[in-house]
Amino acid sequence: MPTTPAAAISRPQRLTGSLRRWFDSSATAEAGDGVRIDWVRTAPFIGLHLACFAVLWVGVSGTALAVAAGTYAIRMFAITAFYHRYFAHRTFRTSRALQFVFACLGASCVQRGPLWWAAHHRRHHLHADTPSDPHSPRHGFLRSHMLWFLTSAAFATDWRRIPDLARYPELRWLDRYDVIVPVAFAALVYASGALLARCAPALGTSGGQLLTWGFFVSTVVLFHVTVTINSLAHRFGTRRFATRDDSRNNAWLALLTFGEGWHNNHHRFPGSVRQGFRWWEVDLTYYGLRLMALCGLVQGLKPVPARVLKDGAR
Ligand SMILES: [Zn+2]
Ligand SMILES: [Zn+2]
Repeated sequence: MPTTPAAAISRPQRLTGSLRRWFDSSATAEAGDGVRIDWVRTAPFIGLHLACFAVLWVGVSGTALAVAAGTYAIRMFAITAFYHRYFAHRTFRTSRALQFVFACLGASCVQRGPLWWAAHHRRHHLHADTPSDPHSPRHGFLRSHMLWFLTSAAFATDWRRIPDLARYPELRWLDRYDVIVPVAFAALVYASGALLARCAPALGTSGGQLLTWGFFVSTVVLFHVTVTINSLAHRFGTRRFATRDDSRNNAWLALLTFGEGWHNNHHRFPGSVRQGFRWWEVDLTYYGLRLMALCGLVQGLKPVPARVLKDGAR
């Protein structure tokens, strides 16, 4: 999709363009200067954070906390196993149907579509911690954590980096209308809470309460934990491998992100499905994928080559 130089766009055109991009990510894109934040386009993202304050009105219950933990866990797995290890790195194979199911689950995390996500991540690996890296902490902590993707320059999907994924029309559709799945997911969570309030009032929950905890709070926590891998895992931790970037292994981040915190391992060999290279490097995503492989749902899990493991033992 062609982009229009920023200077050639009037203020009202810019505003309507940003609003259209709420619903259609392929709506006319404005070529950004790389640093300007598109506040109108990112208003829903800010609104998602503000919506968490609804906890003050809806209260809390054991049911709401359990649902929040459940939606966090399922969607963290979708992001790490599929958005990252499958779409971005192709470290295993699966059926086209399951590919779409997990693409939808990943899209419910409000981290944009799978093609946008994979394209930016491939660029990160190619240029890690150089000026061309979209989110290196060398550009500043906040920029690496979240400001980078709020800019107009980072908005478009870079189709040149994902020809292998762009051939699936259903993935292109999901990527273009990336707002549909999160809205549908939020509606489902609300409806479940409303149903429980009616059928099982003893659980002490409601539609508004489940929506707040199971969608707003869970999604915001999930988002910030995910992006610590861009910000903190390139700053804090140990370096087993002398990679050309600043990646680190960090056990705390690995626990929170289901294995992604073994980021120095990952930068050393991104082609492996496994990121915890030692038996004690807990990698929940890898265990989940092993289980899925046992059930025949995924195949061809790519291992860490022996020479890489030997390298790291020194
Ligand atoms: Zn990295
Ligand atoms: Zn990666």
